[in-house]
Parts: sequence; C-alpha cells; structure tokens
Amino acid sequence: MKILVVNAGSSSLKYQLIDMETEKVLAKGGCERIGIDGSVLKAKGNGNEKVYEKDMPNHKVAIELVLHALRDDGIGVIKSMDEIGAVGHRVVASGEYFKKTTLVTPEVLKTLEEKTFELAPLHNPAAATGLRACMEVMPKTPMALVFDSGFHQTMPEKAYLYGIDYDDYKTYGVRKYGAHGTSHKFVSAEAAKYLGKKPESLKIVTCHLGNGSSISAVDGGKCIDTSMGFTPLAGVLMGTRSGDIDASAVEFLARKKGLSHPDTVTYLNKKCGVAGISGVSSDFRDLEAGVKEGNERCKLALDMFGYQTKKFVGAYAAAMGGLDCIVFTAGIGENTPSVRADVCEGLEFLGVKIDLKANEAKNDGSIRDLSAKGSKVKVLVIPTNEELVIARETAELL
Ligand code: AMP
Repeated sequence: MKILVVNAGSSSLKYQLIDMETEKVLAKGGCERIGIDGSVLKAKGNGNEKVYEKDMPNHKVAIELVLHALRDDGIGVIKSMDEIGAVGHRVVASGEYFKKTTLVTPEVLKTLEEKTFELAPLHNPAAATGLRACMEVMPKTPMALVFDSGFHQTMPEKAYLYGIDYDDYKTYGVRKYGAHGTSHKFVSAEAAKYLGKKPESLKIVTCHLGNGSSISAVDGGKCIDTSMGFTPLAGVLMGTRSGDIDASAVEFLARKKGLSHPDTVTYLNKKCGVAGISGVSSDFRDLEAGVKEGNERCKLALDMFGYQTKKFVGAYAAAMGGLDCIVFTAGIGENTPSVRADVCEGLEFLGVKIDLKANEAKNDGSIRDLSAKGSKVKVLVIPTNEELVIARETAELL
C-alpha cells in the first residue's frame, strides 16, 4: 500500500508518498505561499525534480496540484489516484479529545474543528484546511489524523498535571500534552533496534533538538514525561521560544512592555530563546560562528541551551530510576557536536561518557554511536523520520 503523508501549514503543504512494503519515499515535495502571490510547488519523484509556479488560492488547489505532480511526466510515481491507500495528516494538538491516531469521520472532523483549534491556533486550523481539501479531492480515500502529542498520552497524571486547581484542569483541559511525539517514538524505537534490545527493557532519554526542542523520558517503550507542556512554548529555551519561565515574570514583563495577553505569548514564542539571548540569530550555526568571533552572548545562549537540556536528562534519569541510553536527534541534535558535548559533560556520575572524536564526526545520515569505551550509558545520534511514523501509524490503523 502507498500512503500519502500531509503536513499542512497556514500557507504551506508538505507531502511524502511512501510505499509501505519497502518504506521507501517514492515522491516528496511542498507547496509554498498558498493563498499568497507567487505560490509554488517544488516536487521530487523518480530521481527528478520539477517546480510548478502556479496560482494556488487555497489548499484544495494545492492538493490537486500535488496529485497531478504524483502522476506527471518525468516525476510521476503513480498512474492513478486510486493507488493511494490512505492519507496520514500531521496534527499538532489533540487535547484530551484524541488519545491516539484516529480515522477521520464526520464526528472526528467536528471535534477537531470545534474543540482543538484553541489549543494550537496557528497549526490545527491549517491541518483541518489541508484535511478538508484532501477529503474533497479524494472523497473515497481513508484519512487518518496523527497527533504530535499522541506518543505522550502514556504519561501518568503526576507527570502531566500542573499545580493548579484540579477542577480547572478538568474544566479547561489545562495540562501538559507535549509535542514532537512522532519523533520521540521513532528514535526511541530505533535506539532499541540498534542496541539489539527489547524496548521494554530500556530507559531512554530522547533529545529532539531543533528550532523547537523537546526532551522525553521513554521508559520501557512508553513516554513517562516530556519537556514541552500545554503548548510547545515550555521546556528548554529554543530558537525563538523562551522555554520555561515563571508565570509572574510573564505578567511583570507584559505590564512593563505594555503588551496584551496574545502579544505577550507572541513575544515569548518569537522574540526570545537563543535569538533573544544572543541578539544574533535563532540558528545554531550562526551562534557557533559568533562564538568563533568572540561574541559572549552567542556563547551564553549556547551555554544556557546545553545546561537546560542537561538538567532534563538528569531529571528524567531520576524519574525513570536509571538511564540506559541518550538519543540526540533533529537539526541541532544531529548536526551540532558542541551541544551534544555540553549536554553530556559532567554526566559521568550517571555513567555517561562520550568519545569526543566520534562526536565530532560529520553527520552522514546514519545512526552513530558516540559512547566512549566503558560508558555505561549508550549515547546515540539517530536521524529522525516523523513522516515515516505518520505513514506507519496510518497503515496500522487501516
Ligand atoms: P529542525 O527544526 O530540526 O529543522 O532544526 C533546525 C536547526 O538545526 C537550525 O535552526 C540550526 O540551528 C540547526 N542546525 C545546525 N546544523 C545544521 C545543519 N547542518 N542542517 C540543518 N540544521 C542545522
């Protein structure tokens, strides 16, 4: 069976067509500037690439163009749309309405649109727009929703609750949901496979470090805690997000800066993090270049990121009562040796020892073992593959 994975943003739509027998990506690409002048689809398939500069006033036109590209001369990989067995849609927030990957029915669509938008106002409406567009263009094809928070649904109540009035949690659903679940799920399972161990026997801390970063405790194959919260603003400081901050400091800042509630949240999401600390960039490559030029604030931003990530590793080792493996993944986790070294430095007391030379080796896209000889804890770099998890979950559901 072939599964189409769709990741819709407010003005974008990324896709991959995956053959589930071989788990090979047959085609992939993305539409940009949907609903804006100058919309474009960059599509790859059959080893070729094609750019479609075509007006895409909405997501329906975008998905029609994607389906055309999947069958087009040169890059086409299917003859008919009927070859697509199902579509898996990435959805950021599930709230407590969806506990796992869910097949779309009219009822499910209604819940998605009426209940979850306020949980992820930027992302969920975009996913629903992409979903509706696919349903119109492919009315007979099953659609599945795969949630970023799905893998975190196994967290116990003591881990996901905030210390607020319990009735308010019950009434408003304010609790930790977590994000990047497909990535944490993928890399923790890959780690077990690589180590030749059963997932049930392992205590793993997975560090998804990218523009958005989250750290998870995966005990026996199940997530028992994660650093992101009610929204992806929580946890370590990120590219432009503040990470954890005292709520009273937020109110104080808003008052001093004269910001409304929504503007304060936008400030914390877009103007803070390593970009705010360094005053230079949200990109870790720029920060490293800054350090080389002697920029102290770039160094401070990197130091804070390593320190905060390390603290989560320690906390989660304590939460699990042990640690067998640390996994680094995503843009920074896979490509920035200095961050991995900062995180692991000083964790020798937990049995973590990395080989600094192996850590410096270039990312070749494979799984890399950074553990030094005698390290009790395995330290791995594992390239993430969120699309494959979405495709697998969609196929399993069918
Ligand atoms: P992600 O959100 O997972 O795509 O990660 C993006 C971030 O990874 C960028 O903002 C960079 O800070 C960082 N990064 C460092 N080196 C690389 C690299 N070689 N390729 C891509 N991202 C990188």
